[in-house]
Formats: sequence, C-alpha cells, structure tokens
Amino acid sequence: MSSSLIERIATIRSSLPPSVRLIAVSKQVSAEAIRSAYAAGIRDFGESRIQEAASKQAELHDLSDITWHFIGHLQSNKAKKALEHFHWIHSVDNLKLAQRLNQLAQQLGVSPQVCLQVKILPDPNKSGWSVPELLADLSALNQCKTLQIQGLMTIPPLGLDDAQILNVFTRNRDLAKEIQEQSWSHINMQHLSMGMSGDYQLAVQAGATMVRLGTILFGDRR
Ligand SMILES: *Cc1c(COP(=O)(O)O)cnc(C)c1O
Repeated sequence: MSSSLIERIATIRSSLPPSVRLIAVSKQVSAEAIRSAYAAGIRDFGESRIQEAASKQAELHDLSDITWHFIGHLQSNKAKKALEHFHWIHSVDNLKLAQRLNQLAQQLGVSPQVCLQVKILPDPNKSGWSVPELLADLSALNQCKTLQIQGLMTIPPLGLDDAQILNVFTRNRDLAKEIQEQSWSHINMQHLSMGMSGDYQLAVQAGATMVRLGTILFGDRR
C-alpha cells in the first residue's frame, strides 16, 4: 500500500509544474500514512478538523519541517486552536473571523499565512465571500496586519462541467489580479489555492499555485 502511495505521489508531482505546491489532504488518513507520504517527499499537509489534526501532529512531532494547512470551515471559537496548530489557514471566509484571527495572532505572537475563501458562483453549501462582499471588505482586511494575507481560495459548486469549472478558476485568478492591482499594503494576492482531486488539472491550467489533493493520493476516505 505504501509503495503505491509513493508511486501516486511521484506521478502527480511530476505532472504538476514545479512551482505548484502540492498539499496532501490527510483528513481521515492515519498518522502512519502521513509518515509514508512524508518519506515520499511531501512536506505540506492539509486537515479540516483541528482535534483530529492535533492528535496526528502529536504522533508526528519528530517530522518538524511539515507545514500544516487548515482547509476546513473554521468556527470562531476554534480560531485560537487553529493558530496554535497550523501555519496556513486557507479557509478564512468572513471579515469577523479574519479580525478575530488577527487579534489572537497578535496576542500569540504569530503571523499566520492565510487565504480568503471566495464563492465565485453562489453556493448554499459553502461558506466564503461573494465577489462584491469581498471587494467591500478589503479596506477592513487591510487593517488585519498580523495576518499574512497571501491570496484567494475557491471551491467550485458541485455539478459543473469542465468548461464551467475552468471558468470559476479563471475568474478567481482574475479577481486576485484585480485586488493585487489595488496595491493594498497588507494584502498580497500571489497565491491561488484551488483544485482538488477531481479538478486540479483545470485549476493548474487557470494558474493555481497550491492544489489540495486527498483522494487521488490516499484513496477513498469512506
Ligand atoms: C477534502 C478537501 C480537499 C481534498 O479533496 P479530494 O477530493 O479528496 O482531493 C480539498 N480541499 C478541501 C477544502 C477539502 O475539504
């Protein structure tokens, strides 16, 4: 099992442009499998539940150069724990959460890297800013100086065809560019966190800098 994991990692890594960061989504994956992926060269892992991640991190504390990415919906009351356990938060999805993270990060003396989660198309199943909401909140986000705002994260709604998915990713890229051109002092838009197992090739085509892959590396979670 672990040799096929190594093969899958090698195949996918070599299919990606070298500049694209491969984040192995290890939710519901054992610490042992994470260790195998680490041995195959993976240094970025994504998790969507803090408690689950924390217990695996404790088992893997000897692997001290892992970068941990939080990719799940973050409730405000877990913001402090998220900062304690993750270097990146891809799923900052509203202004209040950003402000809370900013305040806590200041108190904890950390400056986490974050992505702002955007809904390019309406999606009742996802959280995130709509495009007009995000544009309206930029000025307030620019005050969150302890956060290192690095870019945008998006997940297309279910049920789209490839052309529609590509369109979502392309619009996300264009939105990041538009925001970058506004030259905010504390908002960087160099990263695009987009693409999962089913659509990462389209995301890369549209300029993704980070892809978040679970199933295609570790197999079905259920
Ligand atoms: C689970 C998850 C992924 C990985 O999904 P796969 O389809 O298994 O690759 C990526 N991003 C987010 C936000 C997720 O929750």
